[in-house]
Amino acid sequence: MKITFLGTGTSQGIPVIGSNHPVCLSKNPKDKRLRVSVMIEHENKVYVVDCGPDFRQQMLRVNATTLDAILFTHEHADHTAGLDDIRPFFFKQGDILIYAHKRVMYELQNRFAYIFATENKYPGTPGVEEHIITNNPFYLGNLKVTPINGMHNTLQVFGFRFENFAYLTDMKTVEDEEVEKLQNLDVLVVNALREQKHASHFNLEEALAFIDRVKPKKAYLTHISHWLGFHDEVEKKLPENVYLAFDGLSINL
Ligand SMILES: [Zn+2]
Repeated sequence: MKITFLGTGTSQGIPVIGSNHPVCLSKNPKDKRLRVSVMIEHENKVYVVDCGPDFRQQMLRVNATTLDAILFTHEHADHTAGLDDIRPFFFKQGDILIYAHKRVMYELQNRFAYIFATENKYPGTPGVEEHIITNNPFYLGNLKVTPINGMHNTLQVFGFRFENFAYLTDMKTVEDEEVEKLQNLDVLVVNALREQKHASHFNLEEALAFIDRVKPKKAYLTHISHWLGFHDEVEKKLPENVYLAFDGLSINL
């Protein structure tokens, strides 16, 4: 299994439009963060978690030629706004498999009604094959996926465990019974927005405390705001085996 971070930034991305913050002005490529998404390659299949407004650029950047499924964590725009850009994959492959909580699927149906239309579909619009995610594990090919529930302030969000890798973003609280599902991980990815507290995201301290609860071999932080600081400086302050993710980082598992 190969994991590639397609984006590691919070909802506005880094740089933020019009910002003069030093992190937004940084020349270090690791300080440039598209909206969060991760690609999982397993047995010649390609899956992505979330499909935000930078999806097109992300697919171009990794030279993706096929896409076997999209899993959605939740319905916020930074995780869903790029859905129309599945068109090049759809034209080659037909309907693209999408997996989401039924509430999230309903939101997608409203925002992208033309994609979900079953009659008199406008020519050139893409199509999807809908799969509703519940709390039960499911399979993508031979890859077992275990949904992990968390709360993004008052909104339910899914994280996903794929074998010994787990990807959780936009979490603020996670119950112990969900943490139970995260035992014996080689790699955990979890959101860490900034140092200051936030109503719907782990700050750095909460993310590190969560990593302590889960005890993976290694952890990577994502969904990062420019307020967290420069990549190279923040990484020096992190505990052993905890790293900041950056766009383009790949991990082989
Ligand atoms: Zn988000």
